[in-house]
Amino acid sequence: MAEIMYIVIPCYNEEEMLPITAKALMKKMDELTADGRIDPQSKVMFVDDGSKDKTWQIINQLHTLSSMFTGVKLSRNKGHQNALLAGLMTAKNYADIIVSMDADLQDDINAIDGFLDKRAEGCDIVYGVRSSRETDTAFKRNTAQMYYKILAKLGVEITYNHADYRLMSKRAVEALETFKEVNLFLRGLVPMVGFKSDIVTYKRNERVAGESKYPLKKMLAFAIEGITSLSVKPIRLITWLGVIMFLVSIIMLIYFLITWGGGDTVRGWASTITSVWAIGGLQLLAIGIIGEYIGKIYLETKARPKYIIEINLEEN
Ligand code: UDP
Ligand code: MG
Repeated sequence: MAEIMYIVIPCYNEEEMLPITAKALMKKMDELTADGRIDPQSKVMFVDDGSKDKTWQIINQLHTLSSMFTGVKLSRNKGHQNALLAGLMTAKNYADIIVSMDADLQDDINAIDGFLDKRAEGCDIVYGVRSSRETDTAFKRNTAQMYYKILAKLGVEITYNHADYRLMSKRAVEALETFKEVNLFLRGLVPMVGFKSDIVTYKRNERVAGESKYPLKKMLAFAIEGITSLSVKPIRLITWLGVIMFLVSIIMLIYFLITWGGGDTVRGWASTITSVWAIGGLQLLAIGIIGEYIGKIYLETKARPKYIIEINLEEN
């Protein structure tokens, strides 16, 4: 029996991209329905993440054009991860399986066939994994690669080269809902849900229209979020660093006492100044990292809503 599939797409200022994406997806959905792979009630759900351009108008037009398209409008811009979560949590009320992807068609929509194959084999989560990153800039490719390695070292279980292109069953999304954290890094959280899962590889394309909504500043913020919301190892590292620095300072003290005994007292100036700077810097770094976690605790204790839905076209 074919399942109802919802494709959830967070959109922020995607007016240029939406018509192209909708057209491609319409074709794909029609094919999948004709082949009996998905239920005819399957839909594409766009989440307007507080866009400033005509994104929401276009979503509405698409919705009027075909019942295949539906949408959710957030009350304001909440960022990719929160928009995605809003979409997943809304879609799970109507769907059996939910596929999440970006609006820019960088993720090959034909990988959905592979997702459905794995689903038929009993998987609850299927991760889309990029086989190559040729279309990304060398800078983005290298930094991303390094980042995945760092995450792995910090004990964060994450699928290499997997962004947020994946299929989840209704029960997997329901399980994800029980994760109450406010600091969201979905690709690190989803593996914690468990269930049978697998990967499907695909080639990542270039963004067809519009520009990346992830400038370097946002990318860095996202990267730090990923580490500090999933791992406490940086705090432990700082502790060890502190221990080592303390040992080094004891050795230095002994060394200075010996030279002092020899009568050369003025010559310590350089080493004193150096250590003042070194220790000052380390302390600032340590406080910064700890502050990062305290900031997280602050936000978690507030337990603010991660998103607020203004309009849900499924309910009209
Ligand atoms: N996006 C969003 N809210 C934001 C920023 C981005 O919903 O505040 C969406 C965007 O419309 C796109 C997806 O998140 O569908 C990924 O963004 P983008 O393609 O710009 O990121 P990149 O592929 O360059 O990392
Ligand atoms: Mg993109």
